[in-house]
Amino acid sequence: IDVNGKVALVTGGAKGIGFDIANELSKAGTNVVITDIDKAAGNNAIQKLKQQGGSARFVYADVASDTDTTNLINNIIDQDTRIDILINNAGIISKGNIIYVTVSEWEKLFDINVKSVFMLTKKALPYMMQNKWGRIVNIASVAGQMGGGFLGNTCYGATKGAIISFTKGVAREAGGYNITTNVICPGFIDTEITRNMDKALYDKSLEAIPLHRPAAPSEVAKGVLFLVSELADYVNGVTFNIDGGLVRY
Ligand code: NAD
Repeated sequence: IDVNGKVALVTGGAKGIGFDIANELSKAGTNVVITDIDKAAGNNAIQKLKQQGGSARFVYADVASDTDTTNLINNIIDQDTRIDILINNAGIISKGNIIYVTVSEWEKLFDINVKSVFMLTKKALPYMMQNKWGRIVNIASVAGQMGGGFLGNTCYGATKGAIISFTKGVAREAGGYNITTNVICPGFIDTEITRNMDKALYDKSLEAIPLHRPAAPSEVAKGVLFLVSELADYVNGVTFNIDGGLVRY
């Protein structure tokens, strides 16, 4: 995989799927910048990547903040001179039926899950355009394709649906600069969220997955690696499901 020496930004890379994405990119030789609001986990993640011989550093940023995202991109350009790969992974989930979701909860959800993707894409794109090369991968969810999903997260699903549409637009706008933009929809991933699920709901969820198991976070990360690598040079604007063949309803 020919991404050696590229500069990659992974949002929400301190933990969960984001960490595995940073790990795969680091193993492939990219210079990884992890950004997160969890400083302790972020620094811990960097240590792990460095122990494996990777090149990685942590920069604090709240991806929902206009100021933080501007400072983050400036920091990368100052220190690494370029940004080649942008992985918009940071996200939060919502709980409960819409009648119980407050307007401020909705706003927070859209700020962290969607506004962040707009801001970082907008701020990174000019540098990718200059270099006539860029790879953007957004992490949405199967929830964005089925009005929420297993956990009934209607509002969460709406944020992920927005990311899917946004990705296709960016793919069209930036494609002329040799920049590809794709979106991954993970299904049921083995993380704390799924492990803490009610047992009956967990079992029912697995029934809808032909592979009958959750994905390891690294299995999502490998999809990211594929999309940023030369193997996917002509893949643009695609919604790439990594969901074990989940039966949608
Ligand atoms: P996670 O909670 O384990 O990790 C998310 C990371 O993002 C954390 O390190 C957190 O500190 C960081 N973060 C949260 N808010 C932030 C902010 N405002 N600014 C910067 N960083 C912030 O979650 P995960 O399960 O690894 O999910 C990663 C992505 O994958 C999310 O976008 C999520 O919606 C998506 N996803 C997850 C699953 C799943 O089953 N876990 C399924 C489909 C999609």
